[in-house]
Amino acid sequence: MTEEIKKEERSLNFLEEIIEEDLKNGKYKSIVTRFPPEPNGYLHIGHASSICLNFGLTQKYPGYTNLRFDDTNPETEDTEYVDSIKEDIHWLGFEWKNEHYASDYFDTLYEYAIKLIKKGLAYVDDSSSEEIAAMKGTPTEPGKNSPYRERPIDENISLFESMKNGEFSDGSRTLRAKIDMAHINMLMRDPILYRIKHAHHHQTGDKWCIYPMYDFAHGQSDSIEEVTHSICTLEFVPHRELYDWLIEKLGIYPSHQYEFARRNINYTVTSKRKLLQLVNEKHVNGWDDPRMPTISGLRRRGYTPESIRDFCDRIGVAKRENMADVGLLEFCVREHLNKISLRRMVVFDPLKVVITNYTGQEEVLQSENNPEDEQDGTREIPFSAELYIEREDFMENPPKKYFRLAPGQMVRLKSAYIIKCEEVVKDAAGHVTEVRCTYIPESKSGSDTSGISVKGTLHWVSVRHAITAEVRLYDRLFKVEDPTDEEGDFKEYLNPDSLQVLPAVYAEPSMKGAVAGDRYQFIRKGYFVLDKDSASAQLVFNKTVGLKDAWAKEVKKG
Ligand code: ATP
Ligand code: MG
Repeated sequence: MTEEIKKEERSLNFLEEIIEEDLKNGKYKSIVTRFPPEPNGYLHIGHASSICLNFGLTQKYPGYTNLRFDDTNPETEDTEYVDSIKEDIHWLGFEWKNEHYASDYFDTLYEYAIKLIKKGLAYVDDSSSEEIAAMKGTPTEPGKNSPYRERPIDENISLFESMKNGEFSDGSRTLRAKIDMAHINMLMRDPILYRIKHAHHHQTGDKWCIYPMYDFAHGQSDSIEEVTHSICTLEFVPHRELYDWLIEKLGIYPSHQYEFARRNINYTVTSKRKLLQLVNEKHVNGWDDPRMPTISGLRRRGYTPESIRDFCDRIGVAKRENMADVGLLEFCVREHLNKISLRRMVVFDPLKVVITNYTGQEEVLQSENNPEDEQDGTREIPFSAELYIEREDFMENPPKKYFRLAPGQMVRLKSAYIIKCEEVVKDAAGHVTEVRCTYIPESKSGSDTSGISVKGTLHWVSVRHAITAEVRLYDRLFKVEDPTDEEGDFKEYLNPDSLQVLPAVYAEPSMKGAVAGDRYQFIRKGYFVLDKDSASAQLVFNKTVGLKDAWAKEVKKG
């Protein structure tokens, strides 16, 4: 797998090469990048790549990164999204220099439009959107000039003012750049710069009823902020020509656009529009459902910012689209959680063990919290004559080399004693209800003088002391690697078994005071995080990831 990719060995990516060159030859003394989300949804793992890239470059090189909300589509945008985006970037560990909104520049953009009109480089078109589309031509045929293309400058100015003043209805007129209807780049065939939309905007309220198009907002906003390296994804390659044309004709700060490949991961979708459908149609429980590839979903699932940054760093920056393996993301979080998680014992499917020769009431054993970090100290675990072990850790008729509990066989109970199975108790139906064992008093962990060595170590809890908790187990949200690449609707490929709830598992009492966000390794089970749905009476844990790559094992088996 990709585990061999070591970040230390990484060579410069193509953007770092460009920037090192720019700094070396004195083109810039410092650089400015920006992360420009449209506030029409929650950020997802693909955005994390763009965030790590933009902020990472100005951590590495002198300069800073702005956060700019690209808010030019009032109908789909909302302040809920603005707030979540800011929270997610901070949580990922980055700090922007300035917080801007493309809508802050609406006045300036309007001035820029007037400037273009005055230069004879823009005109008001009365054609409908269907008429404009029909005159656009095709990649192999030139388009046709609009009948309104040669309007005198004065008329254009007064009509554009009337557009702004709300005198026309939605869609009745547009402002278009006057470039070349036969241009080989279709985006250069008199692109629309402004459209009429009588809509309330989350930042500017009802001040505007004309809104700039992406191409007349993005590059201009970059320029106003003196962004040196404007990094976007590959679908904007054809837009670069228009980006440069507008900056040149307006004579404003020459920002430059660079494109890199979108980062997508398999078994999910990374498109805000599709994620919104999953939320609205209740296929998931909100944007932060732990199955979602959103930053907020990953956070609730128990991912750490470190692990997401590590993942983005490992997949790196490319010029060609490819799909990253979710297994690598899981590998990154497992690596980090192994270092930081406190170990705890939790029994999911209990089988009662009675220790017949244990005469004491109970005793308190000590166990280390985290073998990876001595600083994490130890915890107390109550031991008594009645314990739960995992039902799957016992077999009445085991095969050879079964090192767990079986009649006549010995195992170690983690941090406690060696026990031996003496008797199996069954109900009328032949179902095992209890296992009776003896323990070896000299075999206590840490002071074992029994001389007995056993191969199996089991997790357990004391029946009387255990607390119950709900556990939510997650699997991939989709059954196929790329649901958008399949026939029909992507939602047909949702995995119906992506959530499994265990209403009551038995946990050691040291977790009683856990607070939302606390991370644990349940020994032999995986990594878990306390969910915000928890109440003091009922703890709820989300499984972040297993101890091993369960899917890789499946492949090998098959
Ligand atoms: P979506 O299709 O999910 O809405 P978008 O590109 O429209 O994505 P924006 O809010 O416009 O979303 O994106 C903000 C920034 O994040 C842009 O610079 C965009 O190029 C980048 N970005 C979005 N998705 C990805 C991705 N999958 N990989 C890398 N960068 C991405
Ligand atoms: Mg977008």
